Amino acid sequence: MSAVAKPYRLDSGHELYIQASVGISVFPNDGDDGEILIRNADAAMFRAKEQGRNTFRFYTESLTKIASERLEIEMQMRRGLAAGEFHVHYQPIHRASDRALVGAEALVRWQRSGAPEITPDVFIPIAEDCGIIAELGRQVLRTACADIHTWLEAGLQVDIVAVNLSPQQFRGEELEHLVAKLLREHALPAGVLELEITERGLMDLGETTLAKLNALKALGVRLAIDDFGTGYSSLSYLKMMPVDKLKIDRSFIANLPHDANEAAIVRTIIAVARALDLCVLAEGIEREAQLEFLVAEGCDQCQGFLFGKAMPAAEFAQRLQAPRT
Ligand code: C2E
Ligand code: CA
Ligand code: CA
Repeated sequence: MSAVAKPYRLDSGHELYIQASVGISVFPNDGDDGEILIRNADAAMFRAKEQGRNTFRFYTESLTKIASERLEIEMQMRRGLAAGEFHVHYQPIHRASDRALVGAEALVRWQRSGAPEITPDVFIPIAEDCGIIAELGRQVLRTACADIHTWLEAGLQVDIVAVNLSPQQFRGEELEHLVAKLLREHALPAGVLELEITERGLMDLGETTLAKLNALKALGVRLAIDDFGTGYSSLSYLKMMPVDKLKIDRSFIANLPHDANEAAIVRTIIAVARALDLCVLAEGIEREAQLEFLVAEGCDQCQGFLFGKAMPAAEFAQRLQAPRT
């Protein structure tokens, strides 16, 4: 619709403006052959005209609502990005053996003035769909590197800060250049920065993955596979990847230690990590009993509400200052 909305300049010098009303039908729910799909799209197009023109309607009402809400969030995100509404918070990561604070995971927060909070689970997938994730991802990486620099300058000890990356950020060559530039600009020891990509994201990347991970690894940063256990990586694949850490998805932690299936999965992932010489972290730890199980099973690092939720940089810095126990 925005492509059509651009003015047409006629030879006579006049400008012509066109608006479109769009009707959408989706295979196979709205029809399983071309004729029915077009007829239903036509019906949807008439509804778009009835309801004010210059708009779109899905044949299925609920899809129209979902699409409109997403469009609205997309618009607000573009505005919010320019207005600096996105902030980076830090969730503590602790060593399992002695519970010492070793670092944090950077998690983006959208602080919209006067509007209800939208969580990253909702806006990240939309940002990925409409390409906003590239700019958002850059902002988060930049902020995290600047914050690490501030902490190290202040003499605080922080071993790792993990930043989430969307698979889209792995396309092209921008990521390696940006990471190299940020490490240099902030004079960061490369090993302090850990880049997380989900197991599913890693599989979606396909053939280029290995070269990309190697290029990042060559910069000295650490690589972690997030939400591990929710995808289907083969062990041989995993062995090839230059990764340093597996993060066990919190769905496998939720009902520990009572749930026998979860306990078996977690034990297996820890054994895989051991065998491949990888660090292993459990996320979503909320109760002491979960932690005790994980410590007994030899998990290396822990993260979850038991230790703390994601908090603003200044608040996290105070924890770094606190004397270690
Ligand atoms: P994730 O990477 O798995 O991040 C951990 C999520 O689990 C966070 O949700 C965190 O608040 C939540 N969490 C941590 N501890 C606990 C716990 O003990 N119990 C429970 N119930 N939840 C816990 P959040 O911040 O809402 O982020 C959701 C997802 O959004 C993240 O999942 C990540 O996939 C994505 N995300 C967040 N920030 C970024 C970012 O900067 N870039 C990208 N690409 N994705 C991001
Ligand atoms: Ca993560
Ligand atoms: Ca995760």
